[in-house]
Amino acid sequence: MSLLFPALHAASSHTALRFGERALSYRQLSAAASGLAVRLEPGAPVAVWATPSMETAVAVVAGLLAGVPVVPVNPRSGESELTHIVTDSAPGMVLAEPGAELPDPLGSLLRTDVDLGEEAVAASPIPPTEPNAEAAALIVYTSGTTGPPKGVVLSRRALASTLDALEEAWEWTADDVLVHGLPLFHVHGLILGVLGPLRRGGTLRHLGRFTTEGVARELAGGGTMLFGVPTMYHRLADACASDTDLVRALAGARLLVSGSAALPLHDHERLTAATGQRVIERYGMTETLMNTSVRPGGTSRPGTVGLPLRDVDIRLMDDSQERIPAEDTETVGELQVRGPHLFTEYLGRPDATTEAFDGGWFRTGDMATRDADGSVRLVGRKATDLIKSGGFKIGAGEIENVLLGHPAVAEAAVTGEPDDDLGERIVAWIVPASPQQPPHQGELADLVAGQLAPHKRPREVRFLDALPRNDMGKILKRELPGQQG
Ligand code: ATP
Ligand code: MG
Repeated sequence: MSLLFPALHAASSHTALRFGERALSYRQLSAAASGLAVRLEPGAPVAVWATPSMETAVAVVAGLLAGVPVVPVNPRSGESELTHIVTDSAPGMVLAEPGAELPDPLGSLLRTDVDLGEEAVAASPIPPTEPNAEAAALIVYTSGTTGPPKGVVLSRRALASTLDALEEAWEWTADDVLVHGLPLFHVHGLILGVLGPLRRGGTLRHLGRFTTEGVARELAGGGTMLFGVPTMYHRLADACASDTDLVRALAGARLLVSGSAALPLHDHERLTAATGQRVIERYGMTETLMNTSVRPGGTSRPGTVGLPLRDVDIRLMDDSQERIPAEDTETVGELQVRGPHLFTEYLGRPDATTEAFDGGWFRTGDMATRDADGSVRLVGRKATDLIKSGGFKIGAGEIENVLLGHPAVAEAAVTGEPDDDLGERIVAWIVPASPQQPPHQGELADLVAGQLAPHKRPREVRFLDALPRNDMGKILKRELPGQQG
């Protein structure tokens, strides 16, 4: 396979990475990462304490240059999660920024600090050849939305395939300056957000911590693209009401991209109204990297995640495992995908890996329909978002979208609960915009029944102070009171 990061080998003075005041050119990044790469032991994976820092980016690039599988670790993991990751991936070493305190069991591993001091950045030759395209390059843990995180083994082939498909779909070039404040231990923030710009020879400006002011500043200062999760776009939409600098900065961006969870229609509409921009949604998973994306300039309709990316095959399967024909735009089926972007295996779980595939097709566990033009419309996850009530299959997402359109609703999640009569009854979990004035339950139920259909009316509305969410802002439905697994 050709080089994963051609621009690193060219070692130009173009800025590769900027975190706050600190920046590294391709020449400096190449020296720092190759200097670190020679200190890595071939063989065992290397864990990276993935703080949102320059050190994390350099550590990951070093591992990729050395051909040592890199395991990015969420620095906010609890002890049991850390134990799970360390036992599961058995890293021989951990890379961390100097001074970072590492809790056990990570703290008892052999540690190397990522030192970006002057001497460390002195020239060091970059390895001229690349490791095998099929070997494990990264082991990334899933977000743990539906159960304990699974270690997903990703090859250089998969990384290159997805990043090149995005290059084509988003017309991503070396002139692009990507802005994001995503964490660096998942596919979105790390693979798309750090490795994406590096593969293109472009620039990443990381916000360290996401703030709406930071987005306005970095976009106004030369940023061309923004990556975010829906909770970030929600906050941007709120801030647009009073921050004219932000409105101008977002309006001037080349591309605003959202992913990792569904962007509610209400936020799509608010952002378009304020900035004139359409947020581009793309859909992917740790296991599959990116599958589909809305194309900039295309005829995107909010609520779809666009067309398959280059080299990605998709199919929808009904309950009896029959393929749903492309002309059928009504029937909801499980989305299955095939292509060079797929993962190799779940680490140490051959049974789970086998079960996840049907022939060469990966079962995503996501339910969808397809519009007449082939655009994918996600309905939700089979496990948590598909409610079987009164003989109907109902997607939680469309009900959540309606509820979020009510001015007194700040957050909404919809679940199904066992019901003797209906099979499952629809329950809406609501965070009111103002705790003193919660919306009226009957009004919310009528709103849904009126806009969708009577059988989609929530039978019960429960109020909460906040929805349980993970680090990516994904709603953890299994952690709602009284829900199991
Ligand atoms: P786990 O597999 O541990 O339960 P997870 O599925 O949330 O966690 P990820 O691999 O990070 O872990 O997330 C992939 C999932 O995120 C997809 O299967 C899909 O359900 C959801 N997703 C990603 N992008 C979008 C999007 N644009 N719209 C709706 N859902 C999305
Ligand atoms: Mg998953």
